[in-house]
Amino acid sequence: MILGVQLSCELLRCDAAALADPEVVRAALGDAAAQAGATLLQVRVHAFPSGGVTGFALLAESHLAIHTWPEHAYAALDLFTCGSCDTHAAARAIARSLGAEQVHTVASPRGPGASQTGDDALPGDGVRPSAADDARAGDANAGRANADRDTAATAATWYSEPWAGHTTFQLRGGAPLLEQATPHQRVLVIDSVGWGRVLGLDGRFMVSERDAFFYHEMLVHPALVTAGSIARVLIVGGGDGYTASEVLKHAAVERCVLVEIDGAVVDAARRLLAPDPSPWADPRLEVRIEDGVAFTARLAPGSFDVIGVDGCDPVGDSAALFDAPFFRACQRALTAQGVLAVQCESPFFMPERFRATIGRLREVFRHVRPYFAPAPIYASGPWGFALCSDADALEPLVARGDAIAGRTGYFTPAIHRAAFALPPYVERLLA
Ligand code: SAM
Repeated sequence: MILGVQLSCELLRCDAAALADPEVVRAALGDAAAQAGATLLQVRVHAFPSGGVTGFALLAESHLAIHTWPEHAYAALDLFTCGSCDTHAAARAIARSLGAEQVHTVASPRGPGASQTGDDALPGDGVRPSAADDARAGDANAGRANADRDTAATAATWYSEPWAGHTTFQLRGGAPLLEQATPHQRVLVIDSVGWGRVLGLDGRFMVSERDAFFYHEMLVHPALVTAGSIARVLIVGGGDGYTASEVLKHAAVERCVLVEIDGAVVDAARRLLAPDPSPWADPRLEVRIEDGVAFTARLAPGSFDVIGVDGCDPVGDSAALFDAPFFRACQRALTAQGVLAVQCESPFFMPERFRATIGRLREVFRHVRPYFAPAPIYASGPWGFALCSDADALEPLVARGDAIAGRTGYFTPAIHRAAFALPPYVERLLA
């Protein structure tokens, strides 16, 4: 049963003077209540000396609440009405009163029926760790399965991630185990239902315990079964430890340097995430907390055999990880037979980003081979990667693949070959 609708609205490019005026905000709330057909009980507003107003309208049908940031020409709305009120009409009225040029809204049905997803069994029961998974991952997963049952019983929060401005991916989880604003980003760790423990950065789901093997095995193993040597491996980004965990499965790796810009991500990962095997105590691993772009630019030619770039989307600190100058620095830091592996975003949800990244790589490297793998938590279908090198040949070495047989959930030599088969829509995109 749905009793009402809640709207979380971002009002963008508003009239800053209106946002700073408590009387304008008061009138906007009153008018919105009328537009929604609600019964107004009370309106309270408070103006902050530094500018900005906070306020709410108490309704018989619940509430309309607002907080404004004139300095950002931005206001956040939290509106909920039950019964037959028109919450969207209230949102439109406030947006109009404050001169918002753009509005983003997340509408959530509210009521006892709102959180029911089908039979309310654990979503994706099929993904629950199988006996084989438990055996492979030992206690960690079994323990996690029990934690999942507990989480399922108590998890009442839907965490949303907007995708490409037209789709939202949501998962249900418990209260945050960690929520921290760092100089670089907002770090979130939760126990979820159906995905195990999840790391989020700036509102984006980065990795879940349950699906981590897809993306990380496919970022790492195609490069490590192909490069001439794999003694020295550099990981740029990857503070969650899952990429390093896959790299260190290879006994032939002598040194693995992980360069992560945000120490808080590594701290959170060490404390709360459980890559299997855990990389942190491995003597071959060297963790450096600094900007990977600056680190790579300082490297002497031929310093590494393999470089894996496990950054976030091309925004903020990660933007430069998709640019030609960084790719050139990687080329210089690699040996002649060295291989670069890069995550290239989704060719389906972000075709332009994918196409542009492959284009920049092709400006730098002799060989650039796009490939794909599912990454369930990146809710866009096949995720794009690229294997890049100036080496004479880029053929996988069977012995390297055999060396990790039985220790992967997705990667095999056959999957390796299949991953490089480009579907026609990608051929056309890259043509
Ligand atoms: N697999 C995830 C993805 O595809 O979106 C990425 C996960 S990993 C946690 C990404 C890490 O890259 C983050 O911890 C972030 O702090 C780090 N990072 C972003 N820009 C960086 C840079 N310029 N140098 C080093 N690390 C960086």
